[in-house]
Amino acid sequence: MAEVFAKAEFAGRWFGTMCLSEPQAGSSLSDVATRATPDGEGFEADPLGPRYRLRGNKMWISGGEHEITENIVHLVLAKIPGPDGKPIPGTKGISLFIVPKRLVDERGELTGERNDVALAGLNHKLGYRGTTNTLLNFGEGRYPVRGQSGGGLNGAGAGAVGYLVGRPGDGLRCMFHMMNEARIGVGLGAVMLGYAGYEASLDYAKQRPQGRSIRPEGKDASQPQVPIIRHADVRRMLLAQKSYVEGGLALELYCARLVDELNTGDAAAARDAGLLLEVLTPIAKSWPSEWCLEANSLAIQIHGGYGYTRDFMVEQYWRDNRLNMIHEGTHGITHGIQALDLLGRKVVMDGGAGLKLLATRIGATVERAGHVGGLAEPANLLAGALQRLGAATKSAWATGVPEEALANATPYLQAFGHVVLAWIWLDVALAAERAAGTLRAGKLGAMRYFFAYELPKVDAWLAVVASRNDVCRTLAEDAF
Ligand SMILES: Cc1cc2nc3c(=O)[nH]c(=O)nc-3n(C[C@H](O)[C@H](O)[C@H](O)COP(=O)(O)OP(=O)(O)OC[C@H]3O[C@@H](n4cnc5c(N)ncnc54)[C@H](O)[C@@H]3O)c2cc1C
Repeated sequence: MAEVFAKAEFAGRWFGTMCLSEPQAGSSLSDVATRATPDGEGFEADPLGPRYRLRGNKMWISGGEHEITENIVHLVLAKIPGPDGKPIPGTKGISLFIVPKRLVDERGELTGERNDVALAGLNHKLGYRGTTNTLLNFGEGRYPVRGQSGGGLNGAGAGAVGYLVGRPGDGLRCMFHMMNEARIGVGLGAVMLGYAGYEASLDYAKQRPQGRSIRPEGKDASQPQVPIIRHADVRRMLLAQKSYVEGGLALELYCARLVDELNTGDAAAARDAGLLLEVLTPIAKSWPSEWCLEANSLAIQIHGGYGYTRDFMVEQYWRDNRLNMIHEGTHGITHGIQALDLLGRKVVMDGGAGLKLLATRIGATVERAGHVGGLAEPANLLAGALQRLGAATKSAWATGVPEEALANATPYLQAFGHVVLAWIWLDVALAAERAAGTLRAGKLGAMRYFFAYELPKVDAWLAVVASRNDVCRTLAEDAF
């Protein structure tokens, strides 16, 4: 059955959505309230797969309603009640269903009957306005299927028809199986928006005359103004952007290569790629979401007042990029949740095997750079930061109390990301050493910027992690 739907989607006839979030269940998918009940006698014998009726609301569904394709296929997470009629608590109770907007026969042809999936509202977003974003009601009775109108969301008999994918309770595993690489895709999208802003602001900085040199010759107001790229502070903003977006791009390409190695490498290479991806994927998603957004903010700043208007694209890049810290392409892992995943699970799993392998790879780059004139100093700085990251990871977990360790998961994610990016920049610098001209100068300049202005931030982030600073988790609610 899944093939019938997949073929039609592949052919561009149908559009697929992912329906995980609900108004009351975003980060916490275990609280999904959409219910699926077997659709009468013989429900398991349907040629399209075990047939259920779904009732519930799904929030934030991208592309949830439109007329661009002849059908829309919703992949919906819902809970099948147990023998006692109650849903199984937690994520174990979640199953995955295919719910088409328009019903189809076993060959995938439209039957002409509408399924009970109704648009309840459109979300008016800050950015990403090229896609509709919807609140959908499943099984409210607006489009009764096969004469069963029921009585609203709780009415017996009503419900949107859905076909089970995989086994009951296997919903999250099935959904994530399809999205292994989605986080790298989101990171790459964030990089591209950052890059577009960098290019736009670089162009603007070369053309916008404003002010004069702070050297003595600049005191002569009869002289023409200089382009703003001559001011050191504007160059600072350009270098920050360059280090974020070019570093981010190199990171995403490295992760994409690891994904290839998972599939094409020999057994040892595939195992290593898998381990590295465990610890690097949260960074591939979160680091560009945060820092390439900052790049977009700096691009606005370089445009001055003009950047705050719709006359230039940079404001749209920022608005569009702001989404990436909140969602994950088609469903969400916010920045905070990503941080908990990294410190709470990824760096401690298998006795810290992923973190150890990453440290080995970073150590190898440090070793190589140590022998190259001009790179020995950043190599030492990176080695020190890596050592302090490892020590802070241990200190965070020293008491073994998750509440204490994880209270500062986001500063940990930030520090981890900056150490990884310093490694990426050192590796880029090693390659740039062999290049010539402006390419070499630009890459080495951005690397120097990153080590001088960005890497020192790691120590401030790690200080609260290592000391298990408790102000955030302990301040009384009424003191805010
Ligand atoms: C434009 C857009 C498109 C989207 N597209 C889809 C889609 O197609 N399909 C879909 O299913 N969903 C989609 N989403 C939904 C998105 O996945 C959710 O917005 C996201 O999962 C966050 O859920 P929430 O909005 O309910 O926020 P909440 O879960 O309420 O979170 C609010 C804040 O609290 C923090 N927080 C929550 N729990 C914890 C915790 N345990 N520890 C620490 N911090 C916590 C979060 O990090 C966040 O900062 C989309 C969202 C947007 C904005």
